[in-house]
Amino acid sequence: MDGFRWKVGNGKLIRIWDDEWIPGKSFFYPDPVPANEFPDDLVSSIIDQQQGTWDSEKVERLFSAQYRVLISKIPLSSPPKEDSRIWKDSVSGSYTVKSAYFWIRNKQQSKIDLSHGSGEDNSEFWQNLWSPPTQPKVKNFLWKLCKNILPVGANVTDWVETAGDECTFCNLKETQMHALRDCAWIRRRWQGCEVENVYKLGENRTPIAWMKEVWRVCSIEQIQKFTSILWFLWKERCNQKYNNHKLEEGDIIPRAMSWIDSYLAAQVSSLGSTVSGATLSDSRIHQWSPPPVGFVKLNSDAGVFQNGGVGFGCVLRDWRGAFVGATMKKEKGSCSPIEAEARALVIGLVEANRRNLSPLIVESDCQVLINKLRRREEDFTELGSWCDEILRLAKVNEGLSGSQVIWSFAGRKKNRVAHWLAHSGSVWDRQVVWTENPPLSLLVLLEEDLGRGPCNRG
Ligand SMILES: [Zn+2]
Repeated sequence: MDGFRWKVGNGKLIRIWDDEWIPGKSFFYPDPVPANEFPDDLVSSIIDQQQGTWDSEKVERLFSAQYRVLISKIPLSSPPKEDSRIWKDSVSGSYTVKSAYFWIRNKQQSKIDLSHGSGEDNSEFWQNLWSPPTQPKVKNFLWKLCKNILPVGANVTDWVETAGDECTFCNLKETQMHALRDCAWIRRRWQGCEVENVYKLGENRTPIAWMKEVWRVCSIEQIQKFTSILWFLWKERCNQKYNNHKLEEGDIIPRAMSWIDSYLAAQVSSLGSTVSGATLSDSRIHQWSPPPVGFVKLNSDAGVFQNGGVGFGCVLRDWRGAFVGATMKKEKGSCSPIEAEARALVIGLVEANRRNLSPLIVESDCQVLINKLRRREEDFTELGSWCDEILRLAKVNEGLSGSQVIWSFAGRKKNRVAHWLAHSGSVWDRQVVWTENPPLSLLVLLEEDLGRGPCNRG
């Protein structure tokens, strides 16, 4: 998540190349190494878990001297702790509303700077490359592209002698420009896309000249859409090439579009509520609203099915409305509706704690349960033991940030995403978890919660 970086514990949640985990470095600029050297790509793979030290041989092999020094300064504990996230702009590392505010303001500022930049000389170009608000992984990808170190055939053969340099899809030589612009595989996918014209700017150019031209002639919004789609297509291409995993051809662009749309909407809505708390229009009062700056909101819901079975659904979103995670589970057997609601909360809290998501606002459409939790009243029934468990998990969560869990009641309309999850589970007794991209079928609901559904657009 933007605005945070990782504090390394055992490294099991942190991706080496995609996450921010080196203090003082916004983006990680790896030296060219074969992408498949450490297939799981997690920081845990370069930690000696037994000794609680960095695996110096692997660190040596993967990183330049400059990074080796920085990495060696990151303390590890023995036995290793869980990874945690810290707010990167405040000195103490704990996030405050104030530091969050400055961070958002800086992002606004960089948006303004970009519109004045001419992009003529290279140092300015590198600056501009980071400016439009977009996900760190997209920026990281662009950086690799401009440095010509994406693992395409022509690059990989420099590192691994046995690898060929042909394109898997058409057998021509696979350069970066081939993979992202000229290959028939990618041309087909760009056709008819809203930013197809931006894609066409790449003709007869190098990656860096292509990006320069894009930055010179396009609006920030076009750049955001174009670069996100480019990244999505790259990911999809790699998936098909290495994992034989396949999305429907027509799915990729809509998926990339709604991903960037919800990211932008979330930014706008959080900026709106930062500037003035009273910017929500009447129609939005009954709608889901993002939590205060710095918080994560957990919405949970349960469904008791008539023909037996109980479903649980939880969704986690941050203060910009950005999707952070979701989970659903369907179980055989039966219980009272209120007990089912309590169990849904347990599932959501376990997930939030597992991923160190704190401070937390917990929102449920079960008023009786929320009141019980607020009063922390004693209850010796079965429900009471679930409430005890909820309060215990809340305590763990409070320990992560030092901030109390807030219990909030929300009408059905504000809880639609969790409701959908609770009623859509298809496989018995297997919990499904999403941590990065939401399931496709959830995108419309998530968008609508941000006031950007098809009816509200424009
Ligand atoms: Zn090709």
